[in-house]
Amino acid sequence: MKICIIGTGYVGLVTGACLSDFGLEVTCVDQDEAKILLLNSGGIPIYEQNLEEIIDKNVKAGRLSFTTDIEKAVKESEVIFIAVGTPSNHDGSADLTQIENAAKQIAADLNSYKVIVNKSTVPVGTASRIKKIISENQNLSWRATEGSAEISNEENSHCEEAERPKQSHSAHVIPDSSSVIPVKTGIHPSVIARREATRQSQQELIPFDVVSNPEFLREGSAVRDFTHPDKIVIGSESEKALKIMQEIYRPLYLIDTPFVITNPETAELIKYACNAFLATKITFINEIANLCDKVGADVHQIARAMGLDGRISPKFLHPGPGYGGSCFPKDTRALCSIAERLDYEFKSLKSVVSANNRQRGLMIEKIKRLLVDLKGKQIGILGLAFKQNTDDIRESSPIDIIKLLLKQGAKIKCFDPMAIDNAKKILPDIEYCKNEYDVAEGCNCLVIATEWNQFRNLDLLRIKALLKNPIFIDLRNLYEPEKVKELGFKYEGIGRR
Ligand code: NAD
Repeated sequence: MKICIIGTGYVGLVTGACLSDFGLEVTCVDQDEAKILLLNSGGIPIYEQNLEEIIDKNVKAGRLSFTTDIEKAVKESEVIFIAVGTPSNHDGSADLTQIENAAKQIAADLNSYKVIVNKSTVPVGTASRIKKIISENQNLSWRATEGSAEISNEENSHCEEAERPKQSHSAHVIPDSSSVIPVKTGIHPSVIARREATRQSQQELIPFDVVSNPEFLREGSAVRDFTHPDKIVIGSESEKALKIMQEIYRPLYLIDTPFVITNPETAELIKYACNAFLATKITFINEIANLCDKVGADVHQIARAMGLDGRISPKFLHPGPGYGGSCFPKDTRALCSIAERLDYEFKSLKSVVSANNRQRGLMIEKIKRLLVDLKGKQIGILGLAFKQNTDDIRESSPIDIIKLLLKQGAKIKCFDPMAIDNAKKILPDIEYCKNEYDVAEGCNCLVIATEWNQFRNLDLLRIKALLKNPIFIDLRNLYEPEKVKELGFKYEGIGRR
């Protein structure tokens, strides 16, 4: 079965690579020429464990390819995954521009029955929207269908239909001897011919199905999550499409992965519900940790005790500087916005969003309490990625914290094992170091901002000797407070005693 993936980002690339590893023939498409060029020259645009090996293996086996030619990829495929970005609009709602453009491109190049699978995180009703866009824009694709009459570019400017997206082909001319618009009707004969052809093509729409198949992979363990998911959610109204989806995921059936088969609306809402719940859990333990700081209680023991309750589970009970990344912040805002549009105030989730925003500021207060004044102070930051094992810095709390520190006059030295190149694009003027010890040298304090494993076993005596003041702020609770304090540091974690 031939598969096309539109959007070769974190989700699209991992999906494409893993599906090709399942033995399917996959073409990953992206409009970003530099990204495709890099992939075609053996490079990889993101850092994700084990991804490079899988890509390399499947490219060599001829099952995985990369292109900017969406037309060819769509036409040759039976199943088209959409894995484009759905960033936040200013009002917090999901910006569906990339989804809509992808749908228009698919419509323009639809040449036979296809299953369109949406993997992006989208508001309820987007599958229907994709269906509508493809139906409405298909009547432009009749030009590319064998045997159909085709219109000229000039006539195309009279089109009432939605604009054909950029990656279209040049249209041919309807055989028409007259170039004069008849006075009687005022309509150019070629336009009448085009409308007639459009009417015909509308009666002969190429069939297709739209399926919602939200993705739950986590950056940092994306390959493992894709190949060993805790569930696969498929929202489909078509039995035929469902069967094709089940065939694609057959290797996962063999390892007893639970499948949730539902309608597209439910599938779309499942994704937001999961992310909103996880964001709520993180925020809850962050707030408990903030309370611990005030009363001298220990959040680790509280989290452990909570986690022993089978109804709660120990996962996502690790306090920190607030959730970040490309999903939780935008998805929680989007779900609040979806509710608002339905005239429902999602009170608990709105509080989560606001508490998470406040958490960054509370971290600055913590640093300030130990340094008194931030102006002119040299602060060392370990970690830039929003979490370990990724180079992603989208809505990263370490990056937000650095920006707040800079605003208060602090100077920053920093290091991250993977995210420095990305950080340089948005923070070009801070000092980037080659390792943890370079960061510590001459700083007034050292802050752990991302939970990379390699930060868990620092040579603390060496760090202490390099720092100007022995102040150690651990925003990920990687160290035991007593042990660090015994070495002569002033230590602050989050909710630790
Ligand atoms: P991304 O920004 O890394 O990648 C999107 C890619 O799509 C970009 O490379 C962009 O150039 C390309 N693109 C956009 N429009 C295109 C078009 N018309 N034709 C070809 N290429 C196009 O995004 P991502 O992090 O992979 O996320 C994609 C979606 O998956 C989002 O909705 C996100 O919420 C969701 N999601 C992300 C994760 C994650 O961990 N990143 C996990 C689960 C779900």
